Amino acid sequence: MTEQSPPTVAAAAPITQAPITQDVLTIPRKLPEGGKVNLVGLTREQLRAALVEAGTPEWQAKMREGQVWQWIYHWGVRDFAGMTNLAKDYRALLDTHFEIALPEVVTRQVSADGTRKYLLRIAGGHEVEAVYIPEETRGTLCISSQVGCTLTCSFCHTGTQKLVRNLTAGEIVGQVLVARDDLGEWPEPGAPKDETRLVSNVVLMGMGEPLYNFENVRDAMKVVMDGEGLSLSRRRITLSTSGIVPEIARTAEEIGCLLAVSFHATTDEVRDRLVPVNKKWNIQTLLGALREYPKLSNSERITFEYVMLKGVNDSDEDAKRLVKLIRGIPAKINLIPFNEWPGAPYERSDWERIEAFADIVYKAGYASPIRTPRGEDIMAACGQLKSATERARKSKREIEAETRA
Ligand code: SAH
Ligand code: SF4
Repeated sequence: MTEQSPPTVAAAAPITQAPITQDVLTIPRKLPEGGKVNLVGLTREQLRAALVEAGTPEWQAKMREGQVWQWIYHWGVRDFAGMTNLAKDYRALLDTHFEIALPEVVTRQVSADGTRKYLLRIAGGHEVEAVYIPEETRGTLCISSQVGCTLTCSFCHTGTQKLVRNLTAGEIVGQVLVARDDLGEWPEPGAPKDETRLVSNVVLMGMGEPLYNFENVRDAMKVVMDGEGLSLSRRRITLSTSGIVPEIARTAEEIGCLLAVSFHATTDEVRDRLVPVNKKWNIQTLLGALREYPKLSNSERITFEYVMLKGVNDSDEDAKRLVKLIRGIPAKINLIPFNEWPGAPYERSDWERIEAFADIVYKAGYASPIRTPRGEDIMAACGQLKSATERARKSKREIEAETRA
């Protein structure tokens, strides 16, 4: 089947005029009451400085930092009383100044295929989602970097959410801790070391554009990669971006994780419509940054994500153009069957079309896995995330009032 299906996108014309960023309500973060500083998400340097400020003698600071770090990230301890190698009065001191706080789990849904979706509440009453996807040889946790997203990709549910705020590093790390709590994945003191990892990989592919929240994402990943804690190697972390070119080199240098890019189209005309940020950094500019990435980060392949939209970007010509464009970049092409959401202006490409596309890419020498949608029954699949519950329960005015309080 080489014929292209007729376009089904009635809304194509208005989308062409879509702004790069939407008209959003950016919410300031409401600081927790009581003044306790949350230790989760602080980098080692920040943790040490906080301990000193609370009265830890300078000469002990390095040791205390290491001890507290291990309790939180290696043992999964959530209160200072449990930090048994610290003197009682030091534990009390910590307790007066600090807390170890995670996002609150509002709901936890388990799909028929084992995928778990967590709806999490963070400071200010806002909600984000994290999704755990178990596979035979690994378990991937998909985490969010923002509440909503300022960008307006026309096929993405998150991009229609009008409330946006950056997550703190603590809220990003907190998603990993919540999943490990739920899966019961903390070592037992004294028990033989268990090398199997339930959360073996982390992908920044949930809600939000991670490169528009660079510092917090970077600090959070530093915590997640630290060898005395969660200890996930940088090759087990993948950051997905819609193509924020100025931050790509920084990602290589300051995080060093694997990179995925939401490519989705082979001409600027179509990419402008699907990923409007392309109007700012077009395909050639993006490819230039991607060519540098493997050298800078010393990492292997870049993952090109390509959502399959019926009659929009799924022709044989697209497949051929795609392999031509990325020539010379070590790459894998991840074909994502479009996941539908209520009111979406696109349809998923037919299965034979996706396979024909994959075949062309594969024959050109690139791995071209077709991503099996996971957790569709609980709206946990790629691009379906949006804290619908937040919007259903509260009006915009209520949320605004709450954040001002
Ligand atoms: N903002 C980042 C990361 C979050 S989106 C980015 O855009 O890369 C994670 C992935 O899901 C992206 O590749 C995105 O294009 C894809 N996606 C969004 N909506 C989708 C949908 N409805 N169906 C399938 N994939 C979708
Ligand atoms: Fe934002 Fe990514 Fe969705 Fe685009 S695809 S709107 S960048 S979350």
